[in-house]
Formats: sequence, structure tokens, C-alpha cells
Amino acid sequence: MKLKKEDMVRVITGAYKGKQSKILKVILGKNTCIVEGVNFRIKHQKPISQEQPGGRIKKECPIRMSNLELVCPKCGIPTRIGRKKIDNSWARICKKCGEMIDG
Ligand SMILES: [Zn+2]
Repeated sequence: MKLKKEDMVRVITGAYKGKQSKILKVILGKNTCIVEGVNFRIKHQKPISQEQPGGRIKKECPIRMSNLELVCPKCGIPTRIGRKKIDNSWARICKKCGEMIDG
């Protein structure tokens, strides 16, 4: 998979199907990533101090990259990612509009 941090993605399957959000973190080697507002659990935190009273904390859990598809920042349509060689490095391109996804 070729998803990166800060990419806009859409959830294809599961409880969050259809939700569009941003990748906060990619966990390399596991093919999972953390997506903002997707797949979160409520954690009960004990009070740490007067300033940090604890309570319920929302914490996102990793989601498999195969459950996500990239939303092209140029045309806004969920798309497959293509590759194109530019100046000796591979750029990711949108298969719908043909625009470069990065930069
Ligand atoms: Zn596009």
C-alpha cells in the first residue's frame, strides 16, 4: 500500500464505512494506520492530578490499510493510486484525474 501520513482516506468497510478522514500515523510493517476519528475506543483514565482529572479519553486504534482508499486531494474522488517516474523518483498519481497526489 502507498498511503502516507496526512493523506485523506475513505473507509471502505466495517463500522466506519464511508467515513472520510485524515491519516494521523502509518504503522510500517503492520500495514495499519491511525485515522482521525475512526475506530476509536473510549478509555477510562484515572485521575492523575488536579490539573488532569482523568475521565473518558477517546483513543484511535489502528485500522488495516486494505480497509481504506485514498481520496485524491485534487479531484476529491476516492481513487486507486498510480505511479509515475519524475526526476528519478516515483510520484503517486490519481488514477481518476491523473494529477500528482503529493505537492
Ligand atoms: Zn484526482
